[in-house]
Amino acid sequence: TVSLLFKKGYIGSLTLDHRILMGAMHLGIEGDREQLNQLKAFYSERAKGGAALIITGGAAVLPSGGGDHMYCLTEQDHRVQLQELIEAVHLARGKMALQLQHNGRYAKSSETGLEPVAPSAIMSKVTKERPVALSTKEIHDIRDAFVNGAVFAESAGFDAVELMGSEGYLLNQFLSPLTNQREDKYGGDFYKRMALPLEIVSGIRKSLGSDYPVIYRMSGDDYMDGSTTRAETVQFARELAKHGVDALNVGVGWHESRVPTVAAIVRAGAFAHVASEIRQAVNIPVIGANRIHTPECADDVLNQQLMDFVAPARPWLADASFAQKAKTGGREELNVCISCNQECLDHTMGHPPSPVGCLVNPRTGHEWKWGLKDRDHHGQQRQNIAVVGGGIAGLAAAKALAEKCERVTLFEAKGQLGGQFLLASQIPGKENFLETIRFYKTSLERLNVNVKLSYQPAIDELRAFDKVIIATGVEPNIPRLLKGTDLPHVAAYSDILSKTVTLGKRIAIVGGGGIGCDLAHFIAESQAEQSHRVDVTVISRSPKPAKRVGPTTRWVLISKLRQLGVNILKGFECKEITEDGVWVQNNDGQQFIEADQVILCTGQTENRELFDALKGHVPIETIGGSDIASELNAAKAIQQAYSLIYDS
Ligand code: SF4
Repeated sequence: TVSLLFKKGYIGSLTLDHRILMGAMHLGIEGDREQLNQLKAFYSERAKGGAALIITGGAAVLPSGGGDHMYCLTEQDHRVQLQELIEAVHLARGKMALQLQHNGRYAKSSETGLEPVAPSAIMSKVTKERPVALSTKEIHDIRDAFVNGAVFAESAGFDAVELMGSEGYLLNQFLSPLTNQREDKYGGDFYKRMALPLEIVSGIRKSLGSDYPVIYRMSGDDYMDGSTTRAETVQFARELAKHGVDALNVGVGWHESRVPTVAAIVRAGAFAHVASEIRQAVNIPVIGANRIHTPECADDVLNQQLMDFVAPARPWLADASFAQKAKTGGREELNVCISCNQECLDHTMGHPPSPVGCLVNPRTGHEWKWGLKDRDHHGQQRQNIAVVGGGIAGLAAAKALAEKCERVTLFEAKGQLGGQFLLASQIPGKENFLETIRFYKTSLERLNVNVKLSYQPAIDELRAFDKVIIATGVEPNIPRLLKGTDLPHVAAYSDILSKTVTLGKRIAIVGGGGIGCDLAHFIAESQAEQSHRVDVTVISRSPKPAKRVGPTTRWVLISKLRQLGVNILKGFECKEITEDGVWVQNNDGQQFIEADQVILCTGQTENRELFDALKGHVPIETIGGSDIASELNAAKAIQQAYSLIYDS
């Protein structure tokens, strides 16, 4: 089949060069004038990277519907900033739609300084606040604010407008019987529940005529029991088209829904059928998004005619040239989003929210400060630099140094690159970590980095370099005070993931942090696939297992473990390992957990041998786990490698 990805497309009067859009995301810096240059640089790079149309993070149409780091269209300075933003994107030859949003019961009073409002006064699980039910007059004000928002978008020069009506925000709240229990003309039967969104669309058409492109982001499935039905959703799509919407962007799931929609364990293209169902009911283009994170997946859903456009969001954080690389066949150098959420959604959803970055792409969030790569070395002599350790920190450092035109040699003691990242790629949902290793490997080849595998350089060899970057990573920490760690049935997590020991039948995992829970997931799932019966117990000292795993991922992991029958002991200290199991203790006393295998997930220690041997002989920098193992975190390791080079 000929790919439809790069065929021209149309959204109303708007012509788009191809079918890959960039979906809306809040970056956590919106509205802050001091960050405007960064925002412009961020979007300009994506425009240059080939996004056919960029959709902004939602701008609040009224203060009651906004929040921290969101544009609010009632603020004059925010309107001026948005105007500057669209000018910058046009200068980069990009196209951009302004998304209009009202958070409704997802708004937090701590951020808006106002009582949250909603169709009905129903407690929000997300904010733990009970909103105030809107009066009819207030609903009219919201309707007018959306219409005014579209008028502003048009006058400011935005190429289109998108109305945010999915993910459980206000317009979605009006549609659902779960959140709309009104008895006036905006609640009751489905026609009444559709009234506000449809009045907004009609109002926009009345003010702007039929030409201005209007996209509606609708919820294809709320994944909430008792919410809008499939038939109603299809009917709503038809009504939107009838009222003059030019394209439907189909989202899935509310923020409070317990069906994972963005987690790494969700299979690629898993929700394409939802968009497809809508597409069959309307004669306007349909845009789909969730879990379309590679060009292959995008190509597939388009060629199957499940949708007309794709609008991935996070993949554009991972690679600013997502579409361009897909088009020119630069797939080998595409930095693929691994759906970890660590530096993006977990930041957006954090308390307080913080600026968005990307674990695999340290440049994201620093586009302005770091500027475009300066490959001219200003006549300085190129340095000869050794990077020791081919884990993710070492790979990132080697890449950054080579981009700065240094001569780089990367040494890795093992036969393969990737370090802890390679080990972690065994875990269900983390298979895409291999894509990151592939990306860095390909980049190093292009940048002529001399990569030496299965090679441990002698100290004298390293002394001959102008500088040595130590990225030798970590080793599993063995708690020496714990009795029994030297017994033959005790292993470290790395032995299991590298498959150097065979699995037992009754497994006790000591340590319930992210690694312990991930390992339990790996064991339970791989054994279930082979129909092996295995008992897995995780002993977590903290009452909150996997407590450092981000909020958007932790609940998915814990519910997966429950589903797989993993036993999690919370708030238990491991006292002693014996030949038959583990003694554990909590405030109520001691218990014995029978086990024929005990796996230690008790942290890591930094590998600092090399540092001690080289100190004083050659300039050294230590990065990643070999710097601070207790804080082991791939995002930090990569960021540290890049900052070291780009901020110096
Ligand atoms: Fe994707 Fe993780 Fe980067 Fe977010 S931080 S864009 S999920 S790779």
